[in-house]
Amino acid sequence: MLKPLQVETWVQSRRSDLDDVREPVEAIIRQVREGKDAALRDLTARFDGIEIDDFRVTEEEIEAAYDEVDTEITERLIEAEARITQFHELQKRTGMWLQETEPGITLGVKTTALHRIGAYVPGGRAAYPSTALMTAIPARVAGVKEICCCTPPPIHPLTLVALDIAGVTEIYRLGGAQAIAAMALGTESVKPVQKIVGPGNIFVTAAKMMLRDHAEIDFPAGPSEIGIIADATAIPEYIAADIMAQAEHDPKAACVLVTTDPKIAEAASAEVARMFQESPRKEIIEKALANSGYIIADTLSEAIRLINEIAPEHLSIQVADTFSVLSKIENAGSIFAGPFTAVACGDYASGTNHVLPTAGYARMYSGLNVDHFCKTSTIQMIDREGLEAIGDIVETLADAEGLHAHAESVRIRRR
Ligand code: NAD
Repeated sequence: MLKPLQVETWVQSRRSDLDDVREPVEAIIRQVREGKDAALRDLTARFDGIEIDDFRVTEEEIEAAYDEVDTEITERLIEAEARITQFHELQKRTGMWLQETEPGITLGVKTTALHRIGAYVPGGRAAYPSTALMTAIPARVAGVKEICCCTPPPIHPLTLVALDIAGVTEIYRLGGAQAIAAMALGTESVKPVQKIVGPGNIFVTAAKMMLRDHAEIDFPAGPSEIGIIADATAIPEYIAADIMAQAEHDPKAACVLVTTDPKIAEAASAEVARMFQESPRKEIIEKALANSGYIIADTLSEAIRLINEIAPEHLSIQVADTFSVLSKIENAGSIFAGPFTAVACGDYASGTNHVLPTAGYARMYSGLNVDHFCKTSTIQMIDREGLEAIGDIVETLADAEGLHAHAESVRIRRR
């Protein structure tokens, strides 16, 4: 069921999908920029098949959603929320620090939360209440005042409940590239935001990349991926189970097993074939598995090098010496270390964030965290003694650059 793969082909195919939708996404953005709410109505009818009058979800609708959701599921969402909040609280560093670096010179950093952000919660092929928690909680923990969320209609009651539990302040029934355009550019109904975060399909991801001049974005978080590094001690059923879990997300999801043992590749592939027969999501999984496969590495060092080149969104480490491999991993969105660390735990409830860079972007981006919702201002306080200590440097360098007024602004204070 799994075929041999080349790293180069895998990496290239993850990126090219975004280029394929550039033109239609540009057209959607243009339409929203010109037609605002009217364009949103038209695009929602076209892509979601729904006629909408009012995009904003009301308080009454949120209350009604609680009645529709099984109490046990709501309780589990609240438990997940507490774990995700706890882990993100550990990352928080809003506030200010100041330190005297030499007599008369005090330097520091003031960290401030963004005021208004937009969270995209996907909802095309599946409901993602978990993503509602993952996008909104770090923003709330950072101290963001206005958390605006867009998710495609019809919104599943579970997603509404999760958004409410997470602390979102506005919810709009808007999906796809048009939702991203509305949050970045603003319309009559949707006030523009300073930053847009959250995963989505290729249309959503392409729109985020194209609208970066208007709102900062987190990173490209497209169709899900898993990389698994395994040696001869790995358990093929666990590998196959994680592959199936990733493949059921999206026909464009992809899984790559890098192993030093051909027998593990063979056994995991047989397990995937068996699990596939029992899956209720065969149509999606079959397509995702066509993007997936295995690579046999001669040594564990070679396997680690390949994983660092792939930079997978999720990395599962299933080897005898977990820590030795973990310490050498440089590029991965989120790391799942050891055979019992099912990737699904991080998707829902361990507390780490599941909004992660895909398509090799883990080489330069970090997964969603509290820092994404903060900005920093540096601070300096210099007294007379401090000015004497650095005055000559400033005056000499400013004069050398021909910036007389710069030099004078220091000289005038030293007279
Ligand atoms: P989605 O909400 O991202 O997209 C649905 C929207 O796409 C629709 O509302 C529609 O407006 C638009 N659309 C659909 N077909 C279109 C077309 N032909 N032209 C223009 N627009 C079109 O939901 P989805 O499609 O289910 O995708 C969710 C994605 O999010 C999956 O790929 C999943 O793997 C990914 N995901 C990623 C992460 C992560 O952290 N990387 C987490 C959760 C989900």
